[in-house]
Amino acid sequence: MSRQMIVGNWKMNGTCQAAQALVAGLVGRLPQDSAEVVICPPFTQLASVADQLVGSFIGLGAQDCHQAASGAYTGDISAPMLADLGVSHVILGHSERRQGHAELDETVREKAVAAIHAGLTPIICVGETAEQRDANQHEDVLGWQIEGSLPAGFSGVLAYEPIWAIGAGRAATEEQIAQTMAFLRAELLRQFGEAGKAVKILYGGSVNAGNAPSILSIPEVAGALVGGASLDADAFLSIVGAA
Ligand code: PGA
Repeated sequence: MSRQMIVGNWKMNGTCQAAQALVAGLVGRLPQDSAEVVICPPFTQLASVADQLVGSFIGLGAQDCHQAASGAYTGDISAPMLADLGVSHVILGHSERRQGHAELDETVREKAVAAIHAGLTPIICVGETAEQRDANQHEDVLGWQIEGSLPAGFSGVLAYEPIWAIGAGRAATEEQIAQTMAFLRAELLRQFGEAGKAVKILYGGSVNAGNAPSILSIPEVAGALVGGASLDADAFLSIVGAA
């Protein structure tokens, strides 16, 4: 099995100074054979963090990009602009963007196409609400999200983040994760054929140093997308160490 991947989603937190302190707590403390690590600071911190990461094993990701390469899109950032800064990954379709910015599957797919075109690896997020899980609709919802959000032949990273587990302090159970991971893999193979095998599937939603060892040992879990715990160097390094 290839190395697992741990992605830190810093969300809208911190200053450049705080980011530098956090990165200083990570760089140099990762063994060469560690899991693949990617940190995703807010846009304003990308340039200084990129400088700090030169020569390290840590990859740099952004939290969104626009679907167009350039133009009259006030306030937006394009995939080529991110690539220009040395960014290698971009989180797309996070539930906080789907909900807070009314992002549709189709928009997420267009962004993924733009990211791939710019040489970035998209980390596309899918996940059901608590109501959808309670109504046993989660598999339908996830299947539609995959169909709508992933470009044909997609070979990047898919992150399964049940919305009810994000920032909740309590992750999905191992059984829920295992069942959903198996469903997602089957769905990728059904929709994309052989190409579906290449997609890495991460779990995200209240991953912390305590639950990381058990979550990361679930079959099909290729790594984790970590929010809150990625803002603490020690907690994040423990999660990386569990991979
Ligand atoms: P959390 O966030 O780890 O704080 O639950 C995960 C995410 O939203 O990516």
